[in-house]
Amino acid sequence: MHCNLPEKGQPDTIEPDVKIPVARPGPFGYGVLAREGAAPMQGEARTRDGVLTLSGFYLLMEGVAAVRRRLTLAVLNGGEPSRADIRTLETALEELERLPQQEGRFQVAVKSGAGPDKSGTDRAGTDWLGLDLEYEIGELAKDLTYLRDGEDALVGYMAASLPELASEVETLAEYVGEEYYACFFTDRDGTVNNYCGHYRSSIQSIYNAVFLTRFSATHCKRAVMLTSAPLASANNGGGLTDVNVMPMGRYILAGSKGREFVDLNGRRGAYPVEPDKEALLMLLNSRLQKILREPGMEIFGMIGSGLQFKFGQTTLARQDVNKSISPDRSRALLSRVSDLLRHLDPAGTMLRIEDTGLDIEIILTVQGESGLKDFDKGDAVTFLDSMLNLDMATGPNLVCGDTCSDLPMLAAAIKRCRQTKSIFVTTDPDLREKVRKLLPGAAFASSPDVLVTCLGVYA
Ligand SMILES: [Mg+2]
Repeated sequence: MHCNLPEKGQPDTIEPDVKIPVARPGPFGYGVLAREGAAPMQGEARTRDGVLTLSGFYLLMEGVAAVRRRLTLAVLNGGEPSRADIRTLETALEELERLPQQEGRFQVAVKSGAGPDKSGTDRAGTDWLGLDLEYEIGELAKDLTYLRDGEDALVGYMAASLPELASEVETLAEYVGEEYYACFFTDRDGTVNNYCGHYRSSIQSIYNAVFLTRFSATHCKRAVMLTSAPLASANNGGGLTDVNVMPMGRYILAGSKGREFVDLNGRRGAYPVEPDKEALLMLLNSRLQKILREPGMEIFGMIGSGLQFKFGQTTLARQDVNKSISPDRSRALLSRVSDLLRHLDPAGTMLRIEDTGLDIEIILTVQGESGLKDFDKGDAVTFLDSMLNLDMATGPNLVCGDTCSDLPMLAAAIKRCRQTKSIFVTTDPDLREKVRKLLPGAAFASSPDVLVTCLGVYA
């Protein structure tokens, strides 16, 4: 890492992100629904009697992402947020809140035969899928508070549901201190972004993008967002660059646990994969797609993580947090995928399967110090540090995470430089203990909002 440290102060001027899609009036009354250059959506946005479909819901959220990118840029550049864009977010929020509800879940239509087990059928011959929209609705409400009434109002709004916000933020801000970090490595979901039931609609909120960009500009030489989700959507699953609304140039975005990345100049790179393994993974992916095209199987591509083709890894949802799929049907999919793996990789040396209960993760093995292993976020730190000249050895570094899968990232950072600080977003005593084992002085936050408010407002 170079020794010239820029002066702390105002964030750098952010160049306009030319990739923002142009909004224009769409067929359903939303200026944000039609995206220039967008891939054609499968399925209709609404049923014949006007009910929002699952496809329509995702299309709506894609539009929200485009508007959020514009508004984030306006705020970062000190400009006046566009009234029309704010109105679009208000309209999107109203649309979501208007959805019919059953047992606390918002109902959207899905194609007949592809619906969940506990479904009813409406007059147009469609099934219903109940969605938990706490994230989508909650983050839109927070963004609107932020845009209409400012930062203090937003912090007050968050404090109403997080009574410990002020005291936690104060403690954390002291821990973060006045350091200028050589490298800030952070996980996304559950760490600096609230959890969302559906990755594809987990669009980053504006306040979150502003706070994180501001922190990277004032406190970090390099910032890396490292997630297990794929970098970009190769299918319907969505990717990190699809849900990210921060302008390019501040965060290196690393997906698939860091096996693929886009750097500060928009250049893409990836961890090398042996050709035979890559070919095997492509074969597996095409078989999984074929399974999901069978009658009644399409739903597995639409719930939770859906079907995500990552670099060196594939994820297929077999359940979502709302338990939309019956246990028998979910288990049947797991056993079918396991059979497929045994068929494709009889020796079991190229592919590993990890079942989280919600997602089936199929991972290409890599050569570790003691034999074949799964690629983890620690491997990603080593790879990205050397590939992108992060020069982590000079320190100090800051590492943030929220689950056990983030521990290798912290361990690898400490290995590079003892001057490493860490904040984990967890209230789980076992995980806190594991973090302290690696770094006795580590700090903790109870929610992503606490961490992001600390980084963006008080650090
Ligand atoms: Mg996480």
